[in-house]
Amino acid sequence: MRKYLSLFVIIVLLSNCKAQDIPKIQEKNLEHSIKPKLVVGIVIDQMRYDYLIRFKDKYGDGGFKRLINNGFNLKNTHFNYVPTHTAVGHATIFTGTAPENHGIIGNNWYDKYAKKRVYCVNDINYKTVGSTSNQGQKSPSKMFTTTIGDQLHLAQNMRGKVIGISLKDRAAILPAGHTANAAYWYEGDDSNKWITSSFYRNDLPKWVKEFNTNNNANDYLSKPWNTYYDIATYTESISDNNNYEMKLKGENTPTFPHDIPNLRTLNGNYNLIRSTPFGNTLTTDFAEATIIGEQLGKGTFTDFLSISFSSTDYIGHGYGVDSKEIEDVYIRMDKEIERLLNFLDTNVGKKNYSLFLTADHGAINVPNYLKSLKIPAGYFDVSELKKHLNQVTLQQYGSNKIIEDIYNTNVFLNKSELKRLQLSKNEVVDFLIEEIIQYDRIYKVISAKTLQTNDFTQGVYSYIQRGYNQKLSGDIIYSLNPSTLSSYYMHKGGTGHGVSYSYDTHVPLIFYGVGFNKGVSNHYYPITNIAPTIAALLDIEFPNGTTGKVIEEVLE
Ligand SMILES: [Zn+2]
Repeated sequence: MRKYLSLFVIIVLLSNCKAQDIPKIQEKNLEHSIKPKLVVGIVIDQMRYDYLIRFKDKYGDGGFKRLINNGFNLKNTHFNYVPTHTAVGHATIFTGTAPENHGIIGNNWYDKYAKKRVYCVNDINYKTVGSTSNQGQKSPSKMFTTTIGDQLHLAQNMRGKVIGISLKDRAAILPAGHTANAAYWYEGDDSNKWITSSFYRNDLPKWVKEFNTNNNANDYLSKPWNTYYDIATYTESISDNNNYEMKLKGENTPTFPHDIPNLRTLNGNYNLIRSTPFGNTLTTDFAEATIIGEQLGKGTFTDFLSISFSSTDYIGHGYGVDSKEIEDVYIRMDKEIERLLNFLDTNVGKKNYSLFLTADHGAINVPNYLKSLKIPAGYFDVSELKKHLNQVTLQQYGSNKIIEDIYNTNVFLNKSELKRLQLSKNEVVDFLIEEIIQYDRIYKVISAKTLQTNDFTQGVYSYIQRGYNQKLSGDIIYSLNPSTLSSYYMHKGGTGHGVSYSYDTHVPLIFYGVGFNKGVSNHYYPITNIAPTIAALLDIEFPNGTTGKVIEEVLE
């Protein structure tokens, strides 16, 4: 009773406090909490960790090396789920969790409820803003959890600006999140326009309209793509003319110089800029226009800008990890980073911004090239697997309609067909697992049920588990042998990504600027740690699905 009485006295005392009695210690604390005016998240699409090292002698002091020497370089950062694709990577970086929670389980996936394949950011509830096409009918609504930008907005009572930009819609939309002020992406084809969706706003701001009237893209497309330095000095890549690269339509060999002005019509007009380093230059141009147009870093509250550079990915897909084209696009990427940093110094102020630089996935050396070096590698044709499974289920159960779809290594079973045949799903799953594991180049197979009833902490199964979303994923998930790529690339040339091996998971991660230490570490970190680390820097709540942890050693 005495305890309650004293509590009552304290409450009465507190409620009688006058305004002038409130202690002023908070002001003193504020002087010591340094928050950036602007946080910039840079994603370089398909940048493997080793690109930071392989071409380092050709990088200048103002780009990647400036970040490495003055920021914190985490050399052993990995994606920790499958599939390692663009939309999934971008969602994971900015939400701090894996597909198991954020729900972006691919760029595209089989929607088992709608019985059709869907694209991660398509949304017919919205209209294109800035063009008459349907390229702006997009939103982040398929992403279940919040991003770091959403949390910044909530923490600042929706003050401060959150914006995402990229040539690719998904790489602009998913990083920016649900409460973003805008996301902008490049329309391409016959349109030289940056557009958005009515999800964000109903009209393009004046500065975007102005940007859309400039001639930058036409200038970049008016010259052949030649190497930045003398090609003879490109000693970190294989010969320019080889059998492992795709050819642009109209080209006889996949070699420099690429005659961009004359190839433009055959290769999608403005879309061709995506497959040249100048797509990255155009992205930096647009990033600068965004910073000026929106006055980022100039307000009372912290702003957030995500910039995803896509041309590195298109070029990687086309020419592969070991090509002269990859060497050239990274030499030029280094110059873009230098330009962006100099621009931030001048227009936001060296002491006003923080940034991180990472990638959304890596890529595999072209399997046919690896084979030429006697490294086990190969290609996998999913349509052949489907044909095979249809055959064996026809033999076993008298139906070739049991497999509904196979997509992103997920096998979806046809529930109504199982019901019609009065088959137990678990029995069919067990039967199929035995069949699938015997199939050439398949390395592991696991059922959804096993994923739901076990907790895998390491190895391939743990990657599958973090990529598995009970609501969305299939009934059986398989994993391919190391160095196996979709047969889509077998004759076309070039490379891809999407699996749990190091070549697809190991990416750069550098923190730089206000609030970050200088340093270097070989400690293993999962990619999900980026978002909580930025939340800790800003002293705000973590994104609501966060499974990553704060990387303490990088914070001041
Ligand atoms: Zn990507």
